[in-house]
Amino acid sequence: MRFLKGDGSGKSGHGVPDKVKEPKFVEKMQDGSRTYEYYKEADPEVAKAWLLTKKVDTPLYYIQVRTDRGTWGMDKEGLYLTDLLPWQTELSRAVVSGQIVGTVNMLGLAVAAKGIVDNFVIEVRCGKSGCEGQWHDGLRYQNKTVVRCPKCSSYNVINSTIIRYIEGVGAQISLGGF
Ligand SMILES: [Zn+2]
Repeated sequence: MRFLKGDGSGKSGHGVPDKVKEPKFVEKMQDGSRTYEYYKEADPEVAKAWLLTKKVDTPLYYIQVRTDRGTWGMDKEGLYLTDLLPWQTELSRAVVSGQIVGTVNMLGLAVAAKGIVDNFVIEVRCGKSGCEGQWHDGLRYQNKTVVRCPKCSSYNVINSTIIRYIEGVGAQISLGGF
């Protein structure tokens, strides 16, 4: 059994280049007690790499980047994807099975488990032989999700049933599933 422990940051340090391209700033907005900084960047990998260099200490402060494949954000709890893309539930698209390799962001997992959001973000690895692409993506809780490898473009299916959220305990991980 592999044990994945969450450090709460949602960060692992993998795949982040030394020089990160900065997305284009759009606007800063106040919505009640929430503050949003909006940016635009076509490539989600560039957006994620940049967001992972950001550290947000203020509660209810959100840095969001709209990309060609979803809106990615960073808040006090770590990296997040606002919504899965429609094709991410079309399991017939997947040509290979990828796997979960990263650590669990506990709050992200909890809100996905409660159905408040449709995904939780974790690092995954491409299942195509010889590719070894590794990236952060949003997965459905206790379900299968289609993700696209940024390295070889293969559609992977990732099964997240190995991770279960238990109120008051945290995440329980089992390679055998539940
Ligand atoms: Zn790949």
